[in-house]
Amino acid sequence: MTAASRLDVRTFVVDVPDFPKKGIVFKDITPLLADAKAFAATIDQMAAPFKELGIGVVAGIESRGFLLATPIAYSLGAGVVPIRKKGKLPRKTHTASYDLEYGQDSIEAHVDAFPRGTKVLLVDDVLATGGTAKAACELLGKLGGEVVGLSFLIELAFLRGRDKLPGQQIRSLITY
Ligand code: AMP
Repeated sequence: MTAASRLDVRTFVVDVPDFPKKGIVFKDITPLLADAKAFAATIDQMAAPFKELGIGVVAGIESRGFLLATPIAYSLGAGVVPIRKKGKLPRKTHTASYDLEYGQDSIEAHVDAFPRGTKVLLVDDVLATGGTAKAACELLGKLGGEVVGLSFLIELAFLRGRDKLPGQQIRSLITY
């Protein structure tokens, strides 16, 4: 374990009450990303449980997921695949939908993002209700990927997102 990975990264996450709307406590990770030691510790610790598992690609969920998925992929010697909000990718995509408080939203990835059977690690900043991660797993399944794990910086355990992801290997660095 490096000195950086012993740092308590929790102290770099800032709670922002009532953002983006009343009643939500937004977990702002920008101070963590901007601190060189905290950022390095975060990437080391999010990647560590998934070394030696033959991960071929790390899939990051738009947009804060990209900031974590990319260095984790580099650390694991894997490629990186963006899972984007609908309408952003230029070529043929597969889509998966998930429920919002009002209505639905969709995420997409290119149909040929990786070869079928590729081992995939899914990465995002926050696991809240689990709807986004569940849709991302469905999407990766449509692409023929084998999701071998999910790595989150933050888990809001009281929202029970894990319940939507049975049988998955889920790791979170910080749990509230
Ligand atoms: P969910 O689908 O409910 O698990 O929500 C996960 C997605 O919403 C992630 O991509 C997060 O970036 C974002 N998110 C949900 N809750 C929060 C929060 N309290 N603070 C920051 N981001 C959040």
